[in-house]
Amino acid sequence: MGHRIDRWPLRRASSARRATAPFPTTVATSLAIMRRTKIVASLGPATDDESILRGIIRAGVDVTRINLSHGSIDDGMVRYDAVRRIAAEENRQVGILADLPGPKVRVASFVEESTFAQGDTVRLTVGSEGSNGSVIEVDYPELASSFAPGDRIIIGDGRLVLEATAVSDDITATVINEGALTGAPGVHVPADKLAMSTPTPHDLKLLDAFVDVGVDMVAVSFVRSAHDMRRVGTEPHPRGPLLVAKVETRAAIENLDGIIEASGAIMVARGDLGNELPIEDLPITQKEIIRRCIAGGKPVITATQMLESMITAPAPTRAEASDVANAVWDGTSAVMLSGETAVGIDPINCVRTMGRIARKADEVFDHEAWARNVAALRMTESGSGTEVTDAMTVAAWRAVSELDVSAVLCISGTGFTVRQMARFRPQAQILGLSTDVRTLNQLAMSWGTIPVILPTAGTREEMMSEAVKVAVAEGLVRSGEQVAVLGGDGVGAKVTNNLRIVRVP
Ligand code: PGA
Ligand code: MN
Repeated sequence: MGHRIDRWPLRRASSARRATAPFPTTVATSLAIMRRTKIVASLGPATDDESILRGIIRAGVDVTRINLSHGSIDDGMVRYDAVRRIAAEENRQVGILADLPGPKVRVASFVEESTFAQGDTVRLTVGSEGSNGSVIEVDYPELASSFAPGDRIIIGDGRLVLEATAVSDDITATVINEGALTGAPGVHVPADKLAMSTPTPHDLKLLDAFVDVGVDMVAVSFVRSAHDMRRVGTEPHPRGPLLVAKVETRAAIENLDGIIEASGAIMVARGDLGNELPIEDLPITQKEIIRRCIAGGKPVITATQMLESMITAPAPTRAEASDVANAVWDGTSAVMLSGETAVGIDPINCVRTMGRIARKADEVFDHEAWARNVAALRMTESGSGTEVTDAMTVAAWRAVSELDVSAVLCISGTGFTVRQMARFRPQAQILGLSTDVRTLNQLAMSWGTIPVILPTAGTREEMMSEAVKVAVAEGLVRSGEQVAVLGGDGVGAKVTNNLRIVRVP
């Protein structure tokens, strides 16, 4: 609490260039529109140097992901502390997402990079000592019962694909897609054969440690049902972390609506999902997951291999640039960098490149068409008390599209109202105002939302005028502009039942 509001100075500086961009603006905004799509960046050895971590935060990272599949819990905690410290020094609201490994089966580390050629024979056996070019050890006792002769065995998100030829206690397999492996890549065990549930006991230990220090968001891997999410058992956000379900199994696709309802946000985890589905099904599945999340008012992250070639190259491929832009047009709330920032040659360049592509795509986003779809799709449970907030955000969206409104100031305790507003993807700026710092960090992942701290809680009148004052003080709205203010009846209000259109004094 109490630290200064994020002014996103870098974005403002870069948005100056936008003034000349040939983008038809129908809404009068005092600030050129900043990047609306958020960026999640995974931390790793490549960001451990403080100047690099500071650099990616300055370059516009909104959420940092601590991937607990790699490194020790202590490595994760060191990264956590570093992000908190640097974000405070930089006056940036940076969310921290702890990503639980889940029941991911991995191979024992390769001592050195091993290359596998087409037609080579490889033996897979249960073990954890080490792997090499002829024997791959796998840390999973049920290995042999998970595969039958003729099955494909996908390692390292497709870097090596084998076909099982004989299965006894060990598996003999032939290389069908050649490749090279290093480190301890994952083995794709079809989720319906996987004899482990999520979260695992190890996940729950990691969860406890990160909840203790106050992590903002937690991602749960290999979720198959809403029940998996409920088993996480943390307090509802914002007191507890915002729970992100990683959709990366067939079962999760089948149970998608229940999972969305039981989660705070969703990740389209294309790495593992691409192993579970025929690859040609992946793009359409991505679109459908995003559509359903946003209709439900839940943020959604599009993840994995977005700028993959930049792990080793200074510029993305054409296909990668298009992938980032298309995810934006699909309606994603955030795009994610994995190995690109965690182990890549130039994490800052990756964040800048992704930021440029996303911002350009934002500029031509069809706000009207999207909002009409959401208005038709929106899911509200009658009797849940959320219908009022739903109706009020619909009204705010109409106000923004019909009147000359430059910003929607959403006063929110839990962030619910802000996320409900963000689902309409309005062209006007969205300010998420809260007295709760955890809520603000969680809003770092919400599309188009600038998290702004409200210094004091008070009555409805006090908070609504305070919101406008703070927005002016932060340079986010200007005197004379018309803004929409959404809020409840003062501190602890459960329902957003006030919408005002006010002229900024
Ligand atoms: P991971 O999740 O990087 O933890 O595997 C993302 C994915 O599967 O795409
Ligand atoms: Mn995964």
